[in-house]
Amino acid sequence: MTCLLCNQEFQEKIRFCDILFFRNNSRAICNSCSNQFERIGQTHCPNCYRQGTDMRCADCELWEKKGHKVNHRALYRYNLAMKDYFSKYKFEGDLVLGKVFAKELKKILSEYHDYTIVPVPISDERMKERQFNQVTSMLDYEKISYSELLIRSDSEKQSSRNRQERLSNSTSFLLTEELVPEKIIVVDDIYTTGATLHEITSLFRAKGVQNVKTLSIAR
Ligand SMILES: [Zn+2]
Ligand SMILES: [Zn+2]
Repeated sequence: MTCLLCNQEFQEKIRFCDILFFRNNSRAICNSCSNQFERIGQTHCPNCYRQGTDMRCADCELWEKKGHKVNHRALYRYNLAMKDYFSKYKFEGDLVLGKVFAKELKKILSEYHDYTIVPVPISDERMKERQFNQVTSMLDYEKISYSELLIRSDSEKQSSRNRQERLSNSTSFLLTEELVPEKIIVVDDIYTTGATLHEITSLFRAKGVQNVKTLSIAR
């Protein structure tokens, strides 16, 4: 196998049971590359998975003061290796790198089988540059089904709204459907300040959705 990150050849251990059940458990990256990623350990903020505290963190306290209930899960720390990974994947546009975390994402999302998976959309401008959405591409690699219930409000045809409407609309996202499911998990690549995900969460809560969780690869 060739590692998608360092291009070095690596040995894949093939297990008999995988051959027997035609399972393809092959990994996309070598051990030394995957060891650079730092999984978020046991000690993390219960609300947002910030590493290093088992109490509600200061960020979450601030969000709650603003009326946002944080219910986020993240898999890895946003360390240097993760930063490099996303820069190759997103900014250099190496689409195949979407495979790196796809299998793990599928496994985690299977724990939320009664939730509707909603990916965070990217703007038309980004789409033009990049040609793919980094979240849906990951989901597509493992054929994980999702609902595109959101669009960026800057993607909506501006001409269909008058100037007053445009000025009064300060939110960045719009819902594409009138009816929304009862349980939603919103998936993004990186949780930085949480602003994007909280804006989306509020949008769903305003529609009466009680159960909205968020998930990201990195935090
Ligand atoms: Zn490697
Ligand atoms: Zn927190």
